[in-house]
Amino acid sequence: MSEGTAPVALVTGASRGIGAACAVALARAGFDVGIGYVSDAEGAARTAAAVAAAGRRALATRGDIADEDQAAALVAATEDGLGPLDALVLNAGITRDGLAMRMGAEQWRAVLDTNLTGSFFCARAALRGMMRRKAGSIVAVSSVVGLMGNAGQVNYAAAKAGLIGMVKALAKEAGPRGIRVNAVAPGWITTDMTAGLADEHRDGLLALTPLGRMGTPEDVAGAVAFLCSPAAGFVTGVVLPVDGGLSM
Ligand code: NAD
Repeated sequence: MSEGTAPVALVTGASRGIGAACAVALARAGFDVGIGYVSDAEGAARTAAAVAAAGRRALATRGDIADEDQAAALVAATEDGLGPLDALVLNAGITRDGLAMRMGAEQWRAVLDTNLTGSFFCARAALRGMMRRKAGSIVAVSSVVGLMGNAGQVNYAAAKAGLIGMVKALAKEAGPRGIRVNAVAPGWITTDMTAGLADEHRDGLLALTPLGRMGTPEDVAGAVAFLCSPAAGFVTGVVLPVDGGLSM
């Protein structure tokens, strides 16, 4: 971060849900914020307005992170518009649920391509500048499903577990340059992604959650903002569960 200027963060998939909450939390923590989105321009504009309301600059950029060139262009556009990245939040993700025995190759590939490979493309694009500047923080949004598995989500579990391996490897590669790389593993968070959860499934999960409620996007955003902040300056290579104590 240059003296006298605000630090800059980029959040992928920030048009809604957890990504939008991360953008706002980072703005409140003093970051100017790049907002990545793939199709929901209105949602991205709403997030940008919330960042501006927190008194920080916002820049929304469209791009499909599963495409390496578009991922690189997203990072480049953010750095051109706001300045060098101090923080990157790898939040964009999708689900295409189904039992393993019935899962088509496309269903498998779509989730791995976006959640894991796309996050890698964004991380690598951001690391180029961070390595030169010998500073930066990357936080990946994994999932409890990547730690514990979940029937019907073999593709998602593999991608989210893959993110944890990626974070731990990058923490080792980039640590000597002063760059921290961590993950959060949210439990069940109330967003559009989980809106279709059946009542009985939801009740079962709540029974396994000591805090007795679903999480909110703001719960996850608080942990992400902490990991991006100087308060976490000696924390790298960790996976922080944000799950109300869930044990499955
Ligand atoms: P969401 O569906 O509300 O938002 C996902 C975001 O990712 C959207 O902004 C979407 O535009 C973006 N996105 C999807 N594909 C993209 C692509 N190819 N390129 C760029 N952007 C793309 O989901 P959410 O619930 O807010 O989840 C956010 C992240 O948190 C995801 O990685 C998800 O797997 C993870 N997560 C969610 C929960 C939960 O319970 N909601 C739990 C654990 C982890």
